[in-house]
Amino acid sequence: MSDPREDAVLADVPGDLFVGGTWRPAQDGAIVAVADPATGRTVAHVADATVADGTAALDAACAAFPSWAATPARTRGEILRRAFDLLVERADELALIMTVEMGKPLAEARSEIAYGGEFLRWFGEEAPRVQGRYGANPAGTGRMIVTQHPVGPCYLVTPWNFPLAMATRKIAPALAAGCTVVVKPATLTPLTTLFLARVLQDAGVPAGVVNVVTTTRTAAVSEAIIGDPRLRKVSFTGSTPVGRTLLKQAADGVLRTSMELGGNAPFVVFDDADLDLAVDGAMAAKFRNIGQACTAANRFLVHRSVVEEFTRRVTARVVELRTGRGTEPGVTVGPLIDDRAVATTDALVQDAVARGATLCTGGKPLGGPGSFYAATVLSDVRPGSDILREEIFGPVLAIVPFDDEDEAVALANDTEYGLVSYVFTVDLARGQRMVERLETGMMGLNVGVVSDAAAPFGGWKQSGLGREGGAEGIAEYLQTKYTLTPDP
Ligand code: NAD
Repeated sequence: MSDPREDAVLADVPGDLFVGGTWRPAQDGAIVAVADPATGRTVAHVADATVADGTAALDAACAAFPSWAATPARTRGEILRRAFDLLVERADELALIMTVEMGKPLAEARSEIAYGGEFLRWFGEEAPRVQGRYGANPAGTGRMIVTQHPVGPCYLVTPWNFPLAMATRKIAPALAAGCTVVVKPATLTPLTTLFLARVLQDAGVPAGVVNVVTTTRTAAVSEAIIGDPRLRKVSFTGSTPVGRTLLKQAADGVLRTSMELGGNAPFVVFDDADLDLAVDGAMAAKFRNIGQACTAANRFLVHRSVVEEFTRRVTARVVELRTGRGTEPGVTVGPLIDDRAVATTDALVQDAVARGATLCTGGKPLGGPGSFYAATVLSDVRPGSDILREEIFGPVLAIVPFDDEDEAVALANDTEYGLVSYVFTVDLARGQRMVERLETGMMGLNVGVVSDAAAPFGGWKQSGLGREGGAEGIAEYLQTKYTLTPDP
């Protein structure tokens, strides 16, 4: 049964493409349905952009670039700050939209707005801090002037799991630096980005500075944009295989690239850990966003002397979780994004069980309507199980015992990914050794969530290239020019 408030909020989201400051349908009139993963019901339709629409969006970004780049940094920052204020004002509507199109519980959608909105404020503040330098050349041959310049029109591709934060984490630093953008949100969750585009428009972002193309013709639209000689940068968040494809495409134009790719985070609990803290951290690191986060803990490596107690305590907490539609009060675990995700999650669980893991709770799809999977704990997961190698992207907590620190380090680093690692120990020296030894772009030392707009988010190894957030985040959208001039 539909809810009138929900229907009114959804009906108010623009369904057209946002190109050059105007809202318009796809050139061939095609549209695509957006579904609620908790019910399977179609909740909206949005334009399905053609290759020509993608090129038109890039035309607009190129046309807007010179004047946006020349706009004083303070003015660009103030516009971003206004967008932050508007997002906060409209948070109730946006949280509902995000929950309906993506599935996360409303409270988590609000947290994402707080986190994702912060990029607008943070980079609004960073814009005026971009600096160059001037000084005597040490060789005495003149004066060096080093200046920073926006890289130019950028193509930003985002995933469905954090539809707001993954967009603001790219758009805000790009705009702060003076770049213009074409944004392509995930096909499954276009509404949040379209809502954000209107917020940016209302905040005073000039026409053409931000353009949004929603499309199912993803590969063709993207290839044309990335292959266009006017484009200067690609920033992508999503899976490692698609990231590799885009890197290859970007190589032809020698484009700047930022890649935020997959993860396979270890969550290491030592025998000296504060188990209250470790269990709280585990619940956040695993079940936030229904386990569908690149930063989700994938492998719980627990010292053999505490593994039984950790498993018992974490299972007791998991049994208390409430799975359902994210709009319902008290729900803590929503649906997975689609039925394919349910099948993939179940295959990983069944493989682990077949290889000897113990199923402590859950371990099955919950049936329709909607794409639900039971919150699951597996203990004693055996080496070689697929679940230890692949990103789970579901509410499944997989526990592996270890015997000593060297083994924990070897297991933690045994992955092609290196996005984030979590370590629980009260031994300071051990904590410091783990900071040194883990191959990871980020680390939670006695905490289960690390994301922060002021921090450099990003991975080592095949988890990606570049950083989003912090002072590092704006550098991704700047290029350096060095000028030499004779001494006066
Ligand atoms: P995905 O790679 O399937 O899709 C991501 C985006 O790429 C979507 O917009 C999709 O439409 C687009 N895309 C797909 N094929 C394309 C192609 N051939 N050309 C151009 N664009 C294409 O990933 P997903 O399922 O949306 O997201 C989940 C993945 O994202 C996980 O691997 C997760 O770890 C990763 N992720 C990483 C981070 C990070 O910051 N490192 C953050 C969130 C998600």
